[in-house]
Amino acid sequence: MNNSMQLEEQYGAHNYHPLPVVLVKGEGPYVWDDQGKKYLDMMSAYSAVSHGHCNPRLVQALTDQANQLTIVSRAYYTDKLGAFLKKACDMTEQDMALPMNTGAEAVETAIKAARKWAYTVKGVADEQAEIIVANGNFHGRTTTIVGFSSEKAYQKGFGPFTPGFKLVDYGDVDALEAAITPNTAAFLVEPIQGEGGIVIPPAGYLKKCKALCEKHNVLLICDEIQTGLGRTGKLLACQHDDVTPDGLILGKALGGGMLAVSMFLSRKDVMDVFTYGSHGSTFGGNPLSSVVALEALNIIEEEKLAERSHELGEYFMAELRKINNSAIKEIRGKGLFVGIEFHPNQLDARDVCLQLMDKGILSKETHATVVRLAPPLVITKEQLDDALEIIKEVLV
Ligand code: PLP
Repeated sequence: MNNSMQLEEQYGAHNYHPLPVVLVKGEGPYVWDDQGKKYLDMMSAYSAVSHGHCNPRLVQALTDQANQLTIVSRAYYTDKLGAFLKKACDMTEQDMALPMNTGAEAVETAIKAARKWAYTVKGVADEQAEIIVANGNFHGRTTTIVGFSSEKAYQKGFGPFTPGFKLVDYGDVDALEAAITPNTAAFLVEPIQGEGGIVIPPAGYLKKCKALCEKHNVLLICDEIQTGLGRTGKLLACQHDDVTPDGLILGKALGGGMLAVSMFLSRKDVMDVFTYGSHGSTFGGNPLSSVVALEALNIIEEEKLAERSHELGEYFMAELRKINNSAIKEIRGKGLFVGIEFHPNQLDARDVCLQLMDKGILSKETHATVVRLAPPLVITKEQLDDALEIIKEVLV
């Protein structure tokens, strides 16, 4: 263990289990360690670095704005926030947006919006609103959010938890219908479960959920913090099912791999539940974040990152499926959001990640059996071929 690792281990809480590599530099899909070794980044900071490391357009936007005006709080208007909000709403077909910083904050915002909408618009009696969520969900780490996780490791020792949430099986429309009551405010769901292990629901699932939600006057809120902004081969993963949700949560790649930028977007009648003083964030919507996030959205559109993700993802998965290894249970994904699942006790996902690291590829396990492969969307086919060669060396 070298000095950088030792310092982190001694002075940092042990809430992560990083691979033993110290990164010092990034460019496009590559990162370098403190020994000068180069790696292809097939993790992209859990999809936050879709634009590639230190994307020159984003570095320019960041530095220009850093020299102009950075943080003023929402006590004032700025000349940057409005244009960012408009672009985000136009691209996602939503009416209004509320900017926050981390993903978990935007999820909390969605929960507050859904509850208040239930009381003030739907007519649910005070304190009775329910939100339905899916088994295997991952929406962040606040106490309310881990409280409705089905993963006991995320909860242990952190209770008591916020009431008002119901779990149903992911991908099961009948279970959703059975769980809906007159008090249901929203169904909060990931179109593909990322941290859950790149779990893809049956085709048409979201479309059926949307129809059910409409029938029962329940909000369909999609958490696209990980799946959104081109990652799965469409701008939004819910577009694979032709669904425009009533509420949408974005984060990660929205900050262009530069800053923490997230937002909750929704219909006007939902967003209108927020009145002066009812919600806020000191940093949310600051001019620096607004400029970087607006440029991040422009890049996704102009450089057709969603289309790239679709084309390269199809190619990548077809090649991965040619690997003949009986330990592989399944290769699944959409766009450049791919998981390789191993049969339990046959190959350990972390061991595979360590071997990939030795050969110049960075990835990360999710649970013990799944290796996630989600490179920056700016990766080229040639770079993907380099990755494939190494993956084959490790797995064949
Ligand atoms: N929601 C989803 C679907 C996520 O994948 C994540 C992070 O992995 C979050 C929410 C939480 O985001 P953050 O870590 O920025 O709070």
